[in-house]
Amino acid sequence: MAKVMAKMSGWIGWVFFLDLLNGLSLTFSYMFSRTITMQYPDKEKWVPYPRHRGHHFLKTNDEGDLNCVACELCAKICPCDCIKVVPYEDEKGNRRPIVFDIDLSRCLFCGLCEDACPADAIALGQVYEMSSYDSKDLLVGVDLLRGIPGKADAGGTVVGAELTTDAGVLVRQGEGEHDWWRHIRGRR
Ligand code: SF4
Ligand code: SF4
Repeated sequence: MAKVMAKMSGWIGWVFFLDLLNGLSLTFSYMFSRTITMQYPDKEKWVPYPRHRGHHFLKTNDEGDLNCVACELCAKICPCDCIKVVPYEDEKGNRRPIVFDIDLSRCLFCGLCEDACPADAIALGQVYEMSSYDSKDLLVGVDLLRGIPGKADAGGTVVGAELTTDAGVLVRQGEGEHDWWRHIRGRR
């Protein structure tokens, strides 16, 4: 009986374009909601969802060594040819990368390098602030890649922020988190 009802509701939904109406109602609700400007970078900052594909980072094991075994699979699969890996043998006899460069100015953040990696060594995280006036700054190496924060457990929210320019432009994540969506959707 439940199967028949589910099938019928599917047909009814199809006949009356319920999915289309659902989508349109969401669109119209945004059209008539208040317009809010996020106070970025001075006061507020968007924290993307964990699935966001931002700046790459290299993972390390408990001993602090890179997981990367310099197999070069990520470099081979990269559609933009923007990864360069040069292997060497470290003092423990492990194969590691002595060079691991990514040219972020060419990267399209597809995530294929993360998917292809057999050693769970590379991933794309939540850091998205990487713009520069000089494309040379976007050629990042192994030291920088191992220092980039990894994926956060949560996201999809807005937190307090503070713009600093003491040592380069940096938007620090401040204290506090607020339900920014209530501005748009009128939640209280
Ligand atoms: S995200 Fe895609 S384009 Fe960027 S380095 Fe990885 S495989 Fe290449
Ligand atoms: S990051 Fe992964 S795929 Fe790329 S060289 Fe290292 S182990 Fe191989």
